[in-house]
Amino acid sequence: MASSRTILVAGAGIGGLTASLALAARGFRVVVLEQASRLEETGAGIQLSPNASRVLIRLGLAETLAPVVCVPDVVRVRKASSGRDIVTLPIGRSERYYGAPYWTVHRGDLQAALLAKVRECGDIEIKLGARVDEFAIHPNGVTVAFSGPTGASDVGGIALIGADGLRSQVREKLGDARPPRPAGRAAWRTLLPVQVLAPELRTPSVNLWIGRGAHLVHYPVRGGELVNIVAIATDDTEAPGWSSPASSGEVLQHFPENRWPLGARALIARPERWLRWTLYDRPPLKKWGRGPVTLLGDAAHPMLPFLAQGAAMAIEDAIVLADALAKRPEAPAAALRAYERARRPRDHDVQRAARRNDRFYHLGGPMALARDLVMRVGLGGELMLARYDWIYDWQPPADVLAPEPAPEPA
Ligand SMILES: Cc1cc2nc3c(=O)[nH]c(=O)nc-3n(C[C@H](O)[C@H](O)[C@H](O)COP(=O)(O)OP(=O)(O)OC[C@H]3O[C@@H](n4cnc5c(N)ncnc54)[C@H](O)[C@@H]3O)c2cc1C
Repeated sequence: MASSRTILVAGAGIGGLTASLALAARGFRVVVLEQASRLEETGAGIQLSPNASRVLIRLGLAETLAPVVCVPDVVRVRKASSGRDIVTLPIGRSERYYGAPYWTVHRGDLQAALLAKVRECGDIEIKLGARVDEFAIHPNGVTVAFSGPTGASDVGGIALIGADGLRSQVREKLGDARPPRPAGRAAWRTLLPVQVLAPELRTPSVNLWIGRGAHLVHYPVRGGELVNIVAIATDDTEAPGWSSPASSGEVLQHFPENRWPLGARALIARPERWLRWTLYDRPPLKKWGRGPVTLLGDAAHPMLPFLAQGAAMAIEDAIVLADALAKRPEAPAAALRAYERARRPRDHDVQRAARRNDRFYHLGGPMALARDLVMRVGLGGELMLARYDWIYDWQPPADVLAPEPAPEPA
């Protein structure tokens, strides 16, 4: 493999795989080092707003994703204590408003689509069971030491992208040894076949119920076959490991009868198995990189899921990174600093906005009443959606990829 055009990527999550595709599309060879010996995504859904779907479409994923994504008509925001609608955001019009759709998708389906595209591409090599331990910067670029079941090895390239998630080893080796901080919130996630839901819950919408100290989100995935349910509540217990099994009873404790309507509680009670995540956060990082090494996605800016933007920001990062390196392939360190300058302000603004939404969703008492009034009367659905224009209307740099092909003549 010609190392003068080889970029090393640590991590084959949504960020690492998207970055690999974007880099290969710009003529780079890519070696992805992934610690897991198999790539499988735990069952959960993900919302992909237009800023992210636009990038995936430009990378050629529209056809593979078409059978598995759902295009919700609205985000329906409901008040937990009364069960009544507060406001309805018309996200079904995203294609017309923002030029790209709002999708909901099973993470496994998204990962499978990215992997299929990666495997079509002769310029990307994925090394599974390869845990990045260390890197050394030298005049020719960077050498990464990794270990796996067959022992230790190393690989060289002109740059290293740490797309290795919340507990990034690359971030630590760049000098940030502080652990992620628990956010005092837990998320429980599960999937149900759509047929088992009550008819009124089978709408092709993103449903968001907000209540004091907790909220509940559900939306269709896998082309409408499954419903993804996420319950988030204030919770200080730190579960060991990445995610841990939980029961409906455990989740229901955070959604008590006196504050949550029967329909929402029945939905939480239905699944036999939930998985619980402790949510973590990190304060914005002043420097993301050094020399030919940088960070991307959760490794650089993990964020609370209250804006559904963590993966979207990793996807945006990926295309900007590829653009920056393609502009200055002979000077990777300068290219990576340009990437960081382009991305840091936006990623950190979104991180902060997600944190604000946490407080906004979980208000109680008079503050909640004021919030609901502002949403229902002061703004309404159209204006509420317009408040997210700065996120959803984001465009990748114009010259990132070749122009889209002209439509076939009729
Ligand atoms: C409850 C919840 C709901 C969410 N909902 C949404 C949503 O609706 N929309 C949205 O956009 N985002 C959402 N997110 C956020 C989103 O899941 C993350 O931001 C996104 O997955 C980050 O992708 P990543 O590729 O940066 O990191 P990861 O997905 O964490 O991938 C990192 C990869 O690196 C590998 N790795 C780690 N260390 C090493 C190492 N030393 N060597 C080699 N490999 C390594 C890991 O095995 C993993 O494969 C949600 C998050 C949560 C918790």
